[in-house]
Amino acid sequence: MIYDVIIVGSGPAGLSAAIYAVRAQLSVLVLEKEYMSGGQMLNTYEVDNYPGLPGIGGFELGVKFREHAEKLGVKFFNIEVRHIAEEEDGRVKVLHTSREEFRARTVILAMGAHHSTLGVPGEKEFSGMGVSYCATCDGAFFKGRTVAVVGGGDAAVEDALFLARGCEKVYVIHRRDELRAAKLLQERLKQCKNVEFLWDTEVAEIRGDDQVECVKLHNKKDGSERILSLEGVFIAVGMKPNTGIVTNLLHLDKNGYIIASEDGITNKPGIFAVGDIRTKHLRQIVTAVSDGANVISSVEEYLNRQ
Ligand code: NAP
Repeated sequence: MIYDVIIVGSGPAGLSAAIYAVRAQLSVLVLEKEYMSGGQMLNTYEVDNYPGLPGIGGFELGVKFREHAEKLGVKFFNIEVRHIAEEEDGRVKVLHTSREEFRARTVILAMGAHHSTLGVPGEKEFSGMGVSYCATCDGAFFKGRTVAVVGGGDAAVEDALFLARGCEKVYVIHRRDELRAAKLLQERLKQCKNVEFLWDTEVAEIRGDDQVECVKLHNKKDGSERILSLEGVFIAVGMKPNTGIVTNLLHLDKNGYIIASEDGITNKPGIFAVGDIRTKHLRQIVTAVSDGANVISSVEEYLNRQ
């Protein structure tokens, strides 16, 4: 079978595109690598900026999106795409996976992004033994303990807010002297009595025996170093796009994001990009969902021209 559209990835952008595709009466298949739909939403404790659903859990929102798509008849297949090729002068796209091939007239890439690392000694060694990239997943293990969050963006501040509810003490270690996060989140965090900010500070090393016991800190302003005792280090220093399968196929920007605007159109006709994987100003659930709607209009225009 040749589908009208195959969507790779099932975060908010992919699921929104799937809903709009089926409502446009296109034959659509979603290929997802993980066993759960929702992408990064699954690791978000609380989504407080999705209109109409204040305070909804990210996991719950992911389930709702998936149920909505399934109710409209979208089919899902749990498999990892390894390579994308073209046939018939590019009119048919072939998606190679570990087990079989799938064919479609158009492909929508919605693979999202993943957590960046610090790249310091001890980070890899203690991953899962005190080093975590997901406060909502692992925070409960650190109830009543002292932890640090590294980073100054929305994710870092959200993580610190979440951890401050259960941990005895939360250090926020940031390499500059001001946060990048939304002002409202910043204000909330500054009101937490058990949160302390360590400005202009970098983690130079993570140390311990079986588990994390301390971090070596480097102050960027005065060059001083100190050891801080703690039991958990939550790293929230941004994301990297999951563009591995298309690096030789599509034009990417200097940070590795697929160059595409709101219409999702890439340099390759018939291949579209939506959500966190494409170049954009604001990576949010609501902007990902918007991408999903816009791209189906582009897909329809493309198919009508064929
Ligand atoms: P981000 O906004 O890129 O922030 C990354 C933070 O990590 C920055 O403060 C950055 O410092 C710091 N950083 C980067 N590399 C570092 C390194 N090697 N060592 C130390 N610090 C480093 O990333 P994010 O917080 O993951 O957010 C990504 C996107 O998702 C954003 O658009 C954000 O708005 C969105 N998001 C939204 C929500 C929400 O609305 N509820 C929640 C989470 C994420 P500098 O500030 O000095 O660059």
